[in-house]
Amino acid sequence: MTNKISKRKIALSELPSGEKLSLKVIEVDGSFEGPHCYIQASVHGAEHQGNAVIYRLLEYLENNPIIGKITILPMANPQAINTKIGTYTFGRFNPNTGDNWNRLYFDFTKSSTEVVEFAKSHLQSDEKDICKEYKKLLKELILSQKAKHIEYGPNTNGLVNLTLQELATDSDYVLDLHTGPKATRYLYVPEYLEQRSDDLHFPFRLIIPNEFGSAMDEATFMPWVNLQSTFKELGRDFHIPFESYTVELGSEEIIDLEEASHDLLYILNYLHHRGIIEEAPELPRESEKLKCKLSDYKTYYAPRGALYHYNISPGSKFKKGDILATGINFENLFRDEPVKFEVKALADGILINHYPSSSVPSGAELLQVMQEYYS
Ligand SMILES: [Zn+2]
Repeated sequence: MTNKISKRKIALSELPSGEKLSLKVIEVDGSFEGPHCYIQASVHGAEHQGNAVIYRLLEYLENNPIIGKITILPMANPQAINTKIGTYTFGRFNPNTGDNWNRLYFDFTKSSTEVVEFAKSHLQSDEKDICKEYKKLLKELILSQKAKHIEYGPNTNGLVNLTLQELATDSDYVLDLHTGPKATRYLYVPEYLEQRSDDLHFPFRLIIPNEFGSAMDEATFMPWVNLQSTFKELGRDFHIPFESYTVELGSEEIIDLEEASHDLLYILNYLHHRGIIEEAPELPRESEKLKCKLSDYKTYYAPRGALYHYNISPGSKFKKGDILATGINFENLFRDEPVKFEVKALADGILINHYPSSSVPSGAELLQVMQEYYS
């Protein structure tokens, strides 16, 4: 038995020179019906490692039959990936509008009369039927949103996001692959998935509220959270079967195929626990899984404009008072102050991210750390 692997392109936009940008969709179907996982990479165009993991996943899928289906979108935002300035990829924001590409998704189920009607008519249905029928409703709602969005022409802000949301609607599990600027590996996990996220073995996880903040993970799980609360108001307890995570795979601008093999093992392990892959992969040494609430994920802003040396690397623990970064600022010479100064930890924590360059203006996001973490 082998997987059926099909590929297609979806036209997205056209450049002034006439060339077209399109999404590459790869659909992998197993021989048996089963769950559906949707995986995309590089919505932020400088965040490449997810594509390396997808490459490794495709190698794996050529020889290993799955149960159910995996939809894969490498290079999910071609415009962002192709926006280069010198050697640097300007991938985080739409260069034409300044908007963050991962804040342009839609929540069309909040206070939706369609969702209330759906819940009322499915008060007695079993969860399997609800799941199947609700996905159909979500598809209809997205398509009507999309029709409105393009009524006066294909508004670039949001069109790629709506198309990705549409492709993810049929799925049970969504993995949105990103990276930090200079970062360790970590997950964004909605509160309702805190326990279930243990099957995705990445070492650090930020627990985010079950709320919409316009990112892909929230755009895909909020319809289910909204359905759950609508059911609750009507007196029914509904268990959300759907899962969605943002997976941060190290640093931007670079791929590492060896690291991608490790990253893949964690993802295969997750797919195994969700019944898509039969055999459990052999995981590298079990790492600690440390969590913190989003409110305990703290940003240290650069106190001064300066060149910064980073004293510890992402993924490292530190204690209150430890030196996290050392700045040098020659303007200080003219103020009779020491050129060198230090940024010290205000509390114990773990460094997750730091600014990707040493040249930092005051007020920039210098360091991001987990505080009050727990296992
Ligand atoms: Zn990102």
